[in-house]
Amino acid sequence: MVDRQRLIERMRAVLGPGGVIAERNQLRTYECDGLAAFRVVPALVVLPETTEQVQGAVRVCHEEGVPFVARGSGTGLSGGALPVSDGVLIVLSRMRRILEIDYDDQRAVVEPGVINLWVTKEVAPRGYYYAPDPSSQLICSIGGNVAENSGGAHCLKYGFTTNHVTGLEIVLPDGDLVHLGGKAPDPPGYDLVGAFVGSEGTLGIATKVTLRLLRKPEAVRTLMAAFESADAAGDAVSKIIAAGIVPAAVEIMDALAMEAAEAAVHVHYPEGAGAVLIVELDGPEAECTHQFEEVERLCQEAGSTTIQIAEDDDQRALFWKGRKSAFAAVGRISPDYYVQDGVIPRTALGAVLREIADMAEERGLRVANVFHAGDGNLHPLVLYDGDVEGEEERAEELAAKILFACLALGGSITGEHGVGADKKKYMPKQFTADDLDVMQLLRCAFDPDGRCNPGKVFPTPRLCGETPGKRHVHPAEQPGLVEAV
Ligand SMILES: Cc1cc2nc3c(=O)[nH]c(=O)nc-3n(C[C@H](O)[C@H](O)[C@H](O)COP(=O)(O)OP(=O)(O)OC[C@H]3O[C@@H](n4cnc5c(N)ncnc54)[C@H](O)[C@@H]3O)c2cc1C
Repeated sequence: MVDRQRLIERMRAVLGPGGVIAERNQLRTYECDGLAAFRVVPALVVLPETTEQVQGAVRVCHEEGVPFVARGSGTGLSGGALPVSDGVLIVLSRMRRILEIDYDDQRAVVEPGVINLWVTKEVAPRGYYYAPDPSSQLICSIGGNVAENSGGAHCLKYGFTTNHVTGLEIVLPDGDLVHLGGKAPDPPGYDLVGAFVGSEGTLGIATKVTLRLLRKPEAVRTLMAAFESADAAGDAVSKIIAAGIVPAAVEIMDALAMEAAEAAVHVHYPEGAGAVLIVELDGPEAECTHQFEEVERLCQEAGSTTIQIAEDDDQRALFWKGRKSAFAAVGRISPDYYVQDGVIPRTALGAVLREIADMAEERGLRVANVFHAGDGNLHPLVLYDGDVEGEEERAEELAAKILFACLALGGSITGEHGVGADKKKYMPKQFTADDLDVMQLLRCAFDPDGRCNPGKVFPTPRLCGETPGKRHVHPAEQPGLVEAV
């Protein structure tokens, strides 16, 4: 049993009195992330300002045998930053410095608490930007983006966070500092940067991140096409991709999602549309102009009822504002909602939408659909009223069934929001026990005592320090294929 007072004193010695939160009411501020259905008050919150303080705090946890969880801005939607009740929450929001911009090598080195959009704001005057653009980019941190391998509307063409991180400084779960990668791309040996990105805070704490910067494209063209149904909009997407065009972004919103966004940001969506498709092309002016005409033609061929073309940056920003505010806007049309995140092969869009509609009707619930249509990443928003008895349970059940439908169609239980605390129970539906054991071996190599964000990602404790007691030997270790950890 941890002596809390001793822990507080040791942490104060590392972080100073202003860097430690121990008072119960203040601790409650940190009891959940964006998935508010899961709440745990941590034993202690610490707010380091430097890598050395992160190391010091983690070392105290290591020596005292206390679990810890990293937190960026707390916008995660899978309970990844959910605290542990007898553990320490290490909040990185005071580490917000952009340390270096290297225009020659097109790299930025930033602290983990830097907000995603700040990177683009910093380099935009020189004609550069940071490509991964989660809808939460106004508030989410780079550290959180790294841990979740976050995506966004423009990841279809430019790739997810993992394609834009070339180097990391990491505090390991025993407090040691390691540097992985650097400014140069693709070093030889195992891709440990790749392993860390998307590891959901289970392998250590990122304290510096080296990011790739891109040149702003010469031209950008954006259109919003209305369709009678999301199915028809999906058909247009298939036609665009089949024509060999790789748009910077292809997003669909259905009628309910539009209703919510309209109430919040007044985009003036076409009356009576069943869905809108936003297509953005970027690149050299001549290529963009040529392909844009082709996209317009393909939308018309797929039955588009109206097509609006963004006349200028303001109108383009409005199209995106509607799309990017869709999650939060749903709060305007429903007292409660659950954001689901699943993936299907792009061609299965129509099938999954029909299934979602049928399942929702059976349960008397509404689902607003928003999706990154180009890569088949769905975000069904299950609407419910927590004050109506049984409705929350029905919504949870429907959200789960949507994931099972994605799996049955050859998809995945998460596209970009992560597994966290929320979806760990579904991991065995997508992976075999052996798959999960092999993943655990990697985790154990970084965190043999299982103190770094425990209880996330994996359904049941299986290997090394996940449970006290005897360690299980993985079959892959027996023939000497891998070293014991
Ligand atoms: C309205 C809204 C829209 C969203 N849209 C998108 C979207 O389009 N695409 C998308 O991918 N996600 C989206 N998200 C989800 C969320 O914003 C992302 O997962 C984001 O990357 C989380 O960043 P954060 O700073 O809030 O991290 P947190 O929620 O604080 O933490 C997330 C995970 O990262 C870990 N972590 C945080 N910092 C570090 C660090 N320095 N080192 C190691 N681990 C760390 C935590 O332990 C946790 O497991 C959205 C969320 C909201 C609320």
